[in-house]
Order: sequence, then C-alpha cells, then structure tokens
Amino acid sequence: MEVNILNEPSQILEALVDFEPDIFLLDLYMPKVNGLELAKIIRLLDKYDSIPIVFLTSENSMQTKLQVLECGCDDVLSKNIAPDILVKQIVSRLKRGKTIKYLHSRDSLTGLLNHGQIMEAANNALQQGERRGSSTVIAMIDLDHFKLVNDRYGHAAGDKVIIGLAQLLLQHMRQTDYIGRYGGEEFLIVFPDASIDAIERKINRIRDILSTLQFKHGDSNICVTLSGGIASSDNFDSMASISAAADKALYSAKEKGRNNIQLAKI
Ligand code: GH3
Ligand code: MG
Ligand code: MG
Repeated sequence: MEVNILNEPSQILEALVDFEPDIFLLDLYMPKVNGLELAKIIRLLDKYDSIPIVFLTSENSMQTKLQVLECGCDDVLSKNIAPDILVKQIVSRLKRGKTIKYLHSRDSLTGLLNHGQIMEAANNALQQGERRGSSTVIAMIDLDHFKLVNDRYGHAAGDKVIIGLAQLLLQHMRQTDYIGRYGGEEFLIVFPDASIDAIERKINRIRDILSTLQFKHGDSNICVTLSGGIASSDNFDSMASISAAADKALYSAKEKGRNNIQLAKI
C-alpha cells in the first residue's frame, strides 16, 4: 500500500491534489479540527463520496460509533488493535470500497455504463422480463480491425472513434435500453421487452450508418465498421448462456468477413 500520513488536518485538500487515496484512516480528536468534521469535508468532494472512512480511536463508546455512522463514515477501530489485524481490516475495506467505486462510476471515456454496471443491468432486465413473461434481447458489438486504427492514427484517434460510436448508440436506443462499454472496443446493449428481429434491424441500421461515417483526425478521415452478435432470452435461460451465445454470434460475424450482424444459433 502507498500510505500518505498527514499530521495537519487543515492540509487535507492540498494533499488530495497529488494523492488519491482509496481509504481514509482518521483520528477522532485532533488539534483544531474534529475528525468527524474532517470526514464531512471529505464527503463533500464528489470523488470521495463513497470511499471508506474509518476512525482509529481509543474511545470505543456506542455514542462515538453512532456519530461516526451518522456522518456517512464506515467504522471505528480501536487504537489498541494489533497491527496485523489492523492491516487485515484495512485491506478488506479497501477491496469492498473498490468494488463499490467500480459499480458506481461510469465508463470514463464514453460516459456509458461500465462492465460491472451493464452486467448488473442485463441480469436485472432478464429477471424482470422473466417475471413479466417478456423477451429480453442482448447485442454484443465490436469494432472491426480496431488495432489497425490505433496503429495507423494513434490511440487518441482510436478514442475519438470509440466516443463517436457510443454517441451513435445513445442516439438510437430507447430510454429503457441499457448501453455499456463491455471492454475496450466492445459494447453490450440490453433491450428489455424486445423482439430479436426488430433489434437485428436496429443494429444493422447502426452498422450501416457507422460504415458511412468519417471521423476527422488531423488531416485524416478515419472509417470503421462493426460486427455484432444478438441473442434473445426466448432461447437461453441464464445470463451466462445468453451472453455466451451473443459472443459466439459476434465471433461468427467476424469469421464471415466482419461488418455484419449474426443471430445466436439455438
Ligand atoms: P477484430 O476485428 O477481430 O475485433 O480486430 P481488432 O483489431 O478490433 O481486435 P483486437 O482484439 O485484436 O484489438 C482490439 C484493439 O482495440 C486493441 C486495442 O488497442 C484497442 N482498444 C481497446 N480499448 C481501447 C481504447 O480505450 N482506446 C483505444 N484507442 N483503443 C482501444
Ligand atoms: Mg475489435
Ligand atoms: Mg474486441
């Protein structure tokens, strides 16, 4: 762990400019500033609104614990705790904090749902669809030969194309659909209450539009295509099997020469 020790609480904002902690371990009573006040200041910063804040104190009263929880902090540990146990406690909270951060923050390049969020959205949509007796369709799409775009025009140009595709997807989806960046240049879209034929037409239209777009980067015009695989909950009964089926269909679209959409084989 990289640890930054601060003895002067008033310097916290300055310290956070160069150092982005994944957890805060605070003393409760410090000269001038009370630890709870400091925690409130930290919580006001968007970036740290869900990062664990743990207090280390010799005062182990229920009243203190309640105060700590009330101000949005996570726990109170005793100052008498054995060092190796303290480390274990910190590590376990760090892990949980990272999971929470991952589930809360959107993909930073595109603003779309990140991998964890789109998987969760897909899972929920499938369960709701099952309860309502309606079909959920998922589409997996991937940019073709994208490595070449990066190699030829640079990573920044590649990023521009990824952002462009994200916007194209946003423009064509309904409010009730979920769009996520599944991986680097791969997107997963979840269509609740949809028919696979209608989604095939929709994704093909997007594929068509993308193939005619030119992304300007310096003096170059960059053209890209996408391939996609589509699967419906009508034919697969779990998140694992439907996403594997869409992935397999995407793979077969690549094999068929790219710039096409394939439906999952039943
Ligand atoms: P295929 O048609 O088989 O999908 O070929 P491909 O080159 O697109 O596939 P491959 O998986 O070999 O390479 C994906 C490339 O996408 C490599 C990686 O550098 C690029 N990539 C992934 N994420 C990003 C990103 O965030 N920005 C940029 N610029 N490129 C990315
Ligand atoms: Mg690709
Ligand atoms: Mg890929």
